[in-house]
Amino acid sequence: MLGSTTIEPIGILSSPFKQKFSIPRQPNLAPAAKGTITLCDGYNSPEMVRDLETFSHLWLLFGFHENASKGWQPLVRPPRLGGNKKTGVLATRSTFRPNGLGMSVVKLERVITDNNNVCIAISGMDLLDGTPIFDIKPYISYSDAIEADCGFAPDAPNLKAVAFSSAASDFINNNTLPDEFESLVIQILAQDPRPAYKQQKDDDKTYSVHLYDYDIHWRVIGDKINVINIEAI
Ligand code: SAH
Repeated sequence: MLGSTTIEPIGILSSPFKQKFSIPRQPNLAPAAKGTITLCDGYNSPEMVRDLETFSHLWLLFGFHENASKGWQPLVRPPRLGGNKKTGVLATRSTFRPNGLGMSVVKLERVITDNNNVCIAISGMDLLDGTPIFDIKPYISYSDAIEADCGFAPDAPNLKAVAFSSAASDFINNNTLPDEFESLVIQILAQDPRPAYKQQKDDDKTYSVHLYDYDIHWRVIGDKINVINIEAI
């Protein structure tokens, strides 16, 4: 087909998000999320990343690999519209789209090169562990940051308050956890990861999210998210 091409990952992301449920729906909503891109064989030369650290933010172009076999439809129901109004797939950031490509701006923390291996530490990503990265480009604010009309998504999502039970606080205080773990839990749960249709009703279900090697169990009480307990997996 005209212009068709085959692409392969240049890197693979390691991320605290081990399941799609609870991943923020856009980047930079959870700055405490820390990840690492390891460049793949054939691309892992330090020359590839020379001067990259002079930029604070990067564009990642990646594949929604978890959905690869699930196809796409011309109309989708974005969570922002309550999950029941249909809109054109190209008017959304839906993960079910032709070619399954995603793009996110993330913070560059540092570039680590040793023995000809290259890792790029990033934060604030909205991506699943194992996401294939097809390209990386510097974010250039004079061109990329624009005053714009943003359709049905004009503002960042509303946040809920997050409270910890004494069991959950004890777990955080008594274990050696990944950097900024507690902040990550707050940033993730404050967005209320439940499907949009659940957010309108009373809900006494206990939910779990899997971050790093931990399960976080939580409930919604009134307008607040309560972390019940945290377990190592
Ligand atoms: N900023 C990107 C992604 C927006 S959708 C873009 O605009 O293209 C973000 C959602 O993608 C996350 O909430 C998560 O549910 C989903 N996701 C993240 N990584 C994924 C992957 N590798 N495969 C499938 N879905 C993924």
